[in-house]
Amino acid sequence: MDSNFAFLLPVMMLIFGCTFLIVGRFGSREAKLWGPGYLFAAAAFSVPLIDSLMPERVASVIADALFLTAFIFYSGAILARFRRPSYLRLRLAFSAVTYLGMLYAALVAVSIPAEFLLNDLSCVALLTFAVVLSLPHMRHTADKVLIGVSGLVIADTVIRNIVFVFIVPSYGGNNDFISSEYAFAMQASASVLVLMFALAGLAATTLDTVMAHRDVAERDPLTGMFNRRGFDRKVEEAKGIEGSVVICDIDNFKWVNDTLGHGPGDEVLRAFADMLQVRLPDGGFAARFGGEEFVIFLPATPLVAAADFANRVRLAFAGIDRKAMGFDGRITASFGVAGVNAADHSLYEQIARADKALYAAKESGRNRVMVEGEPPRDMSGPRVVSISKGC
Ligand code: GH3
Ligand code: MG
Ligand code: MG
Repeated sequence: MDSNFAFLLPVMMLIFGCTFLIVGRFGSREAKLWGPGYLFAAAAFSVPLIDSLMPERVASVIADALFLTAFIFYSGAILARFRRPSYLRLRLAFSAVTYLGMLYAALVAVSIPAEFLLNDLSCVALLTFAVVLSLPHMRHTADKVLIGVSGLVIADTVIRNIVFVFIVPSYGGNNDFISSEYAFAMQASASVLVLMFALAGLAATTLDTVMAHRDVAERDPLTGMFNRRGFDRKVEEAKGIEGSVVICDIDNFKWVNDTLGHGPGDEVLRAFADMLQVRLPDGGFAARFGGEEFVIFLPATPLVAAADFANRVRLAFAGIDRKAMGFDGRITASFGVAGVNAADHSLYEQIARADKALYAAKESGRNRVMVEGEPPRDMSGPRVVSISKGC
């Protein structure tokens, strides 16, 4: 085998190890496990290159330990990615037992096939353990690709061992492993699969890191709701889906702040946001647009049902007991609701109409839901209907 080729795997793994460690610095827990995993694998694949410096059996059991450690980290990374318990003690105990077996095969029984078989199967067992536990928890495509490629690594190892150990016993003698057919087949398939495995892991990890940063940019830190930027993206995603829009604004909030203080004011905002979020239907989304103003999109919801939704939120909010913050009264909110209009070019026109209805709700005394009905074609202005008069 070309010895330059033998350098390829250690170098590739070293690069991936370092890349994962860099990604890990941005807070990804799994990258912090992938990184050392690839560095151990780089060291393991380097052993055949330097095994002339030490007794061959010693080199072999060192490589076994390094491979096994790499897979302890890989399985840990997959479990961390899918938020499974780490089962670290179990994985370590399993690895310790199988490593004793490898030591026995290498140093006592002096059987290279048995040693390699045990090493390969132990590594693959660790990976299979993590994959099986993670299978029910895949969320997006990157997860499926990672699990799929892990499956290929498992299948490759099992098939390679069946072929080489049981069908073609071509280990090429104890002294020239690096030039054996086994080593060539191992490096050829492993090179491709390691690259795929590492790229799948890196893609998944990087995607998560990017998504986490996007989430920060698109959410309001006080309430955890989408901000305007997040809302705009959701609107883009929901293009083509029709529904109703509700805008709400807490009543006399300046007075709430001035009387109860800014801290309790924040608490009121958080409670309002929580209450909205838990009531959102599937596919619905809400955002905090301004200080104490919230916008809600209710997909496939007729105007009457949207008004009913708004009224339930209004009643629930007005019903919150404020005694804990030293206030013996009610804090209320007003709502404007708008439905689909065939002439609308975007959701923002609907939002503008809901805003007008909200303004009308404020004008007519607050703590109410105002619905903008579909204006007749010969009318220039919207028809505003109150469906609720205070509580
Ligand atoms: P209206 O019933 O007409 O809506 O009256 P309002 O007092 O609610 O409206 P106004 O626009 O006069 O006051 C809004 C207040 O919201 C003023 C501002 O101090 C407060 N506010 C905006 N953002 C925050 C925030 O993040 N936390 C707190 N505690 N207050 C905020
Ligand atoms: Mg207000
Ligand atoms: Mg306001």
